[in-house]
Amino acid sequence: QWKSEIIGVGTELLLGQIANTNAQWISEQLAFHGISVYYHTAAGDNQDRLAALFRTAHDRSNLIIVTGGLGPTEDDLTKEAVNTLFRQPFRTDETAKEKIENFYKKNRQSMTSNNYKQAQVFEQAHILTNEEGMAPGQIVEHEGRVWVFLPGVPVEMKQLMRDGVFPYLRERYVLSTEIKSEMLRFIGIGESALEDLLSERISNQTNPTIAPLASLGEVGVRLTASGASLEEADDLLAKERERILEIVGDYYYGSDDITIEQKVFELLKERGWTISAAESLTGGQFINQMISLPGASGVCTGGMVSYTKEAKEKALGVSPYVTNRYGTISAECAEAMAERAQHIFNSNVGISFTGVAGPSKSENQDPGSVYIGVKIGEDRAWHRFIHLQGSREQVQNKAVKKAYQLLFH
Ligand code: ATP
Ligand code: MG
Repeated sequence: QWKSEIIGVGTELLLGQIANTNAQWISEQLAFHGISVYYHTAAGDNQDRLAALFRTAHDRSNLIIVTGGLGPTEDDLTKEAVNTLFRQPFRTDETAKEKIENFYKKNRQSMTSNNYKQAQVFEQAHILTNEEGMAPGQIVEHEGRVWVFLPGVPVEMKQLMRDGVFPYLRERYVLSTEIKSEMLRFIGIGESALEDLLSERISNQTNPTIAPLASLGEVGVRLTASGASLEEADDLLAKERERILEIVGDYYYGSDDITIEQKVFELLKERGWTISAAESLTGGQFINQMISLPGASGVCTGGMVSYTKEAKEKALGVSPYVTNRYGTISAECAEAMAERAQHIFNSNVGISFTGVAGPSKSENQDPGSVYIGVKIGEDRAWHRFIHLQGSREQVQNKAVKKAYQLLFH
């Protein structure tokens, strides 16, 4: 029965300069494997306080995962502090030593003897190879406790947990549960509507568990399945995914790390379509997001931010007839802007944003009033009016999100 504890080492954690995201991530992973975590603690780079904390951990936990403080500098004290418990000599890990020497050779920097410190490991340690950095991970079994030491850098820590720690525990201790989890992503449906449609699935859930959660105009459903093997967990997960998508598949755009921006981008690419934007209240956010994606030149032809009435008329070329008669915050103006974008930037799709980001009214319209114009190919331009809640920034973000939803459907 595991009683585990995660210890973050580093004064930055105590000063609030960084958040202890390592502990959060490790906890989640341990939970996935059915391992209970009872404590998260953190200590600064102080040998006495570290030693005291390690002693406490020894007394109350049997799986102790320590991140940080394995580096080459004076203030990296994890190994020295924990050795007040272990009292074992250090040895040099030759692989790590070579890696460090090569690194300095390649970068033509001179090494100090300090640098070798990273290659110092406990005599009895099981070494975990660090593919992302210099300091190896170590596992030390001491008086019935399993101690794991990992570098603080999150990518290194994660790689060592995945490729080192879990395989080690699996091999020696048999992990009773294997967990597979997937985040299904939906757009164009609210959280409560989605929960409603899935109510029968949600109330009958046991394995996998089904947890809906909403954020900024999107809803996710986290499925977590457990099984005696990864294959079994995978299988349960796939079956539940299928059932859920039978019900709400129309709103589903992808799983896990995919974003709606990426999805829309891929759809455009598949069709061989290009897109451009004329933006007002969103200040270029839409086109910025598209261009952030690799391969953007094949999909995005351009974009213009025309913020004032004059800019919409003179730079973008919206007819003054439209802006004077209907105002710049209007369906007509949004459609005209989309048409102008499509024309100027010679794209298949033109999209536009005009509205009131807030906090005050504009052209007598309330903050959060947004018109999105869309022009596709030869079709007539159309628009969607939405009323959004929140701060200026939230209105901008949600308007952009809404545009992706319109383009996705
Ligand atoms: P290195 O060998 O690179 O010096 P280290 O083991 O000494 O690694 P630290 O110096 O403590 O680790 O941390 C390196 C960096 O990793 C920190 O600057 C910080 O950005 C990040 N980091 C450290 N601890 C954590 C943590 N608990 N959560 C998230 N990030 C962390
Ligand atoms: Mg360091």
